[in-house]
Amino acid sequence: MIPQTDPKAAYLEQQAEIDAAIARQLASGWYILGKEVEGFEAAFAAFLGLPHAVGVANGTDALVLALKGLGIGSGDKVATVAHTAVATVVAVEQAGAVPVLIDIDPVTYTMEPAALEAAFTAHPDIKAVLPVHLYGQPADLPAIQVLAQRHGAKLIEDCAQAHGAKLDGRTVGTWGDAACFSLYPTKNLGALGDGGVIATGDAALAGELKALRQYGWREHYVSDIVGMNSRLDELQAAILRVKLTALQRWNARRRAIAAAYDAGLAGAGVSLPAVRRGAEHVYHQYAIRAADRDGLKARLRERGVASNIHYPVPVHLQAAYRDRLIIGPAGLAETERAAREVLSLPMYPQLSDAAVEQVIAAVRAG
Ligand SMILES: *Cc1c(COP(=O)(O)O)cnc(C)c1O
Repeated sequence: MIPQTDPKAAYLEQQAEIDAAIARQLASGWYILGKEVEGFEAAFAAFLGLPHAVGVANGTDALVLALKGLGIGSGDKVATVAHTAVATVVAVEQAGAVPVLIDIDPVTYTMEPAALEAAFTAHPDIKAVLPVHLYGQPADLPAIQVLAQRHGAKLIEDCAQAHGAKLDGRTVGTWGDAACFSLYPTKNLGALGDGGVIATGDAALAGELKALRQYGWREHYVSDIVGMNSRLDELQAAILRVKLTALQRWNARRRAIAAAYDAGLAGAGVSLPAVRRGAEHVYHQYAIRAADRDGLKARLRERGVASNIHYPVPVHLQAAYRDRLIIGPAGLAETERAAREVLSLPMYPQLSDAAVEQVIAAVRAG
């Protein structure tokens, strides 16, 4: 079976270097917030071209802390999408805020600016906008940024699927007030466990985030703000420093696999992902659409190809959230249609050319 994703393959590609980093870290005797986290934060900030990065426990916490650090809290409205990992909406609620769900553009699967504009008209008190660069495709940042600025709202980018993606030559994560990344093992940059990081150009916010991630401490044992415990650990940071050295190359390989799928699947009766004009997509997922999605998924499995649905049930239709989230005035029709039709094909940098051909043949056999 060709897996849909394979984090072990990435580990094996760098095994000697990662094992050496782990041994070095374990022998250091220092396990929380030390040289490895500082080294990773500096390297990741440099990768993005931003001055500050703050390592945290996971991507969900990165969003919670960014919201809190920007002063978004109890009862504040945050415009975001429902076609995303449920974590995006979980984080808004954990910060004490209220999600306002905005529909997606069906071509790019990212926040539809016209629907956001309608939401601002209906809810002028929206305090922050949280677009998601889903599947590695940049959201329409220029349009969203203009709307956020016009309404005095903060802009927080959910970059959990888009490490290194660019729009108009500018890396995603550098457009908003803060950028939040997950370092979950299957993400474009993944730890061998949980991890997350927040990047920002704002030195004061970075200082605030460093206090918030550790009990509100500005110095040891002195809490002058209310914080939590959400630290990236030294061991994962040591591993991430090795993996970061391969990120550009791995993103390029994802783009090459996507180009092969684009060529091989043209005319195969499924719709293929489109790239926004001016965007450098990093293909966290290669999501196709098919009217008989569930049938296609079953037939691919019979032919030895695993696939996955990102995401089968939008958050506003999940049992825990049904009927209690604010839905923007434009509705969520495209979100619900995408949930019925999308299917993510195998996509990870170590996927071989032969496996790509096998996937193409399996989809074409439909
Ligand atoms: C993975 C993901 C998250 C959450 O990250 P965790 O590290 O699992 O907490 C948030 N948003 C999006 C879009 C994601 O894909």
